[in-house]
Order: sequence, then C-alpha cells, then structure tokens
Amino acid sequence: MRMYDVITHKKHGGALADDEIRYFVNGFTRGEIPDYQASALLMAINLQGMDGRETATLTDAMLKSGDIADLSSIPGTKVDKHSTGGVGDKTSLIIGPIVAACGAPVAKMSGRGLGHSGGTIDKLEAIPGMQTAIAPERFCEIVRSTGLAIIGQSGDIAPADKKLYALRDVTATVDSIPLIASSIMSKKLAAGSDAILLDVKTGSGAFMKTLESSIELAKAMVSIGIHSGRRVMALITDMDTPLGNAIGNALEVEEAVKTLRGHGPEDLNKVCKELAAYMLLLAGASDDIERCKALSEDAVSSGRALDKLCAMVAAQGGDVQTLLEGFAKAPVISRFKAAGSGYITHMDAEACGMASFALGAGRARKEDSIDYSAGIVLNKKTGDKVTFGETLATLHTSFSDKLREAEDLLSSAITIGDAPPPAVKTIYAAVSENGVKIL
Ligand code: URA
Repeated sequence: MRMYDVITHKKHGGALADDEIRYFVNGFTRGEIPDYQASALLMAINLQGMDGRETATLTDAMLKSGDIADLSSIPGTKVDKHSTGGVGDKTSLIIGPIVAACGAPVAKMSGRGLGHSGGTIDKLEAIPGMQTAIAPERFCEIVRSTGLAIIGQSGDIAPADKKLYALRDVTATVDSIPLIASSIMSKKLAAGSDAILLDVKTGSGAFMKTLESSIELAKAMVSIGIHSGRRVMALITDMDTPLGNAIGNALEVEEAVKTLRGHGPEDLNKVCKELAAYMLLLAGASDDIERCKALSEDAVSSGRALDKLCAMVAAQGGDVQTLLEGFAKAPVISRFKAAGSGYITHMDAEACGMASFALGAGRARKEDSIDYSAGIVLNKKTGDKVTFGETLATLHTSFSDKLREAEDLLSSAITIGDAPPPAVKTIYAAVSENGVKIL
C-alpha cells in the first residue's frame, strides 16, 4: 500500500477501506509516514468527511495504538462522563460524587486546561496535597473502596491521537467532526468504562458554536461508542454563558462544594442534576429518567454526595479541611463594575474564560504553571438587571498588573441592553442510538 494512493482516494471523496485507515494510523504512529503526507490526508478528510464506518475504524486504530485501562477488578457497571470543554465547567466534581453515592462506580481519567478552557485535573490539584498521578492498581483500589476516583491520564493512552492532534493543531484541521469525534472517543474508550455520558457543549465558549454542529458531533460520538459495544449517550448543554458563577480552579472547587451542599447556582444545579441522572440511567440504576433525577437529588440533600467527594479527596491525599472550610484567597481581589444600566443581554463565555486566563488561572502552553487562587466570581449573569456602578464580578489574582487586561476582556464579554434577552436555555437535547430528543 502507498500513502500517495490513500491520499488520492480521499481527495476524490472516496470512503477509505479499513486497511487503508489502519495503514495510515499505524505507519504515522511508528514514524514511517512523514508529517507532510499525514497532513495532506488530514486536510482531505477535513474537506471530504468520513462516513460512520470510517470514523469507527479510525477511532479503533487510534484506541489500539496504546494502553487500554483494565477496570475489570471493579465490580458493577463503571460509568464515565466526558465534557467537550468550557468555561466554569466544574460538573465532574459534582456529578462524580452524586453518581457514586447512588452506587454506580466512577473511575474517571480527566485532562488539564488549555487556553480559555479549564480542566478537572487542575481544579483538583488546587486542593492542597491532592494526587492525580496514581498507578492503575491503586486507582482501581480507590474506586473499589470509595466508589469514585478522578486521576490524570495514566500510561500511554491513544499515542496516535496525541501525534495526530499536534499535527491537526498546526495544519488547520482541528475543525472536522469525524476527526474530533474519533480523537475524543479513542481516549474515552481506552479509559475502560462500560458506559459513557458525553456532555457536548454548544455556544460562544464551546468548540461547537451552533446547536446543529453540536448535535452532529454528538451523533458521531454516540455512534462510535455503540459500535464499540459501550452504552453511550450525549446531552447538548449550553456554553454560551459560563456555567455557574465561579471561573478559576480553587474558586470552582468551592462552588462545587457549595452545590453539593444544595446551595449552588441555578444553572449549575440544573445541568448537574440532568447529567447525573443520565449517567445513572446508563449505569442501569433505573430505566426511568425521572427516578434517576430523584436519586440524584436525594444523594445531594442527604449529604451522601458531599461525603463521597470528601472520601475521594482523602483517598487521593487531599486536604479535606480546606475543601470544606475554604481555600486561601488570592492577594488581590478587585470589583468589576457595570458601565451602564439595563439588562445583561449577552455574556460571551470564551471572553470570560480569557479574562480568567489573563488573571493567571489558565495556561498558554502545556508546560506552564497556573495560579490556583486566580479567577472570577460573577455576581450577575445573562438576563439579570444591572445598574450603573453595581459590582458585576470580583476578579481574583496574585498580581495587580494583570487586572487591566482582564477588565478589558470582561468589558468586551458583557453586553448591557435596554430590554431583557430571551430566557437562556441550559440543556438543549439528548442524543442516543435512538435519535435526538429536544429537551
Ligand atoms: N478534544 C480532543 O480531545 N480532540 C479533538 O479533536 C478536539 C477536542
């Protein structure tokens, strides 16, 4: 087989044969196919697309390029969740404990944040002492004893995706649904859970800016998961506005604890209740979604979900007292005030994420360090009435010279108009193998 012919085949819109896809993935991972030929094929895929069978084969080839987690020593249906990323998304810290408190084991591998988007591992590492690099045997042991563990990716998960993603990043080939779906699903399937709930974000702070493209991505990922014999569903949730009020690592952990105490912001509560219920449905806790919602609510109101989070943090070496009593505050806390009166008609999630990043909460490159105490707490959200000079948010940072840029970004993020905007939706649709249900 010649790479030249594989590129030509896709360039003319053909469906690649399974052996062509495996030849490309294996050859590229081993360093036998040069970047320039891989780039040409990626661009051809980006322009011509891939059908469901090709996407499933591409995923399988990337999945098999590295380690596959073995969770078989953990009894029960292991359930995982993946979010396509966003601003203020601390849902894993809330729904992992809820689902575990309802008896479904959660063995989760998460990632770090990059750019405007946060990552669960960074949030967890804001807790003093918290370990996220944990060997596979110990990871399974923690899940067996507490029902829940969240760690960074261990071993060599999907190295083909790592290499391909780096190339896509510099060849303008990230924005292809089959390439995104196979990239995410190769890592999720390699993480070993039996059931996976996908939280596909939509809006200004998301990868997918429109509902249609988010549904298309969700369908592609659900189809890959079902092809691989897993139970998979997706929810499409809003990322036009930041989720909850806190943005930034320690601030988000505090908000997660508040939510598990039953006092979280309304949008965050709603999204978490829905996500947790669908995870329970996939785990087989009940086949009635309303019953799953009731189970999830009870886990919070009884305090069992918060106890689960504490048990996981303790098992992973974290300081439970800080978790429950509050984190050290950033040395500089500044109020951001309204420049006019009216209603907040739009709050651009990506620009809010960039403002938090400017305060020190994010990283530009993988190797950069972050300031765990930095970030933003929003006092007002889209739809709220505001008056001139009122505090819209507080900015937290270690360096006062970072405030100016963050304030400029936040000013550009928040639009104030005379009339209230239409109500913001938080959950748009559920996607399963049976189709799309608008919620
Ligand atoms: N996240 C991934 O892991 N892969 C993509 O291609 C896009 C987002």
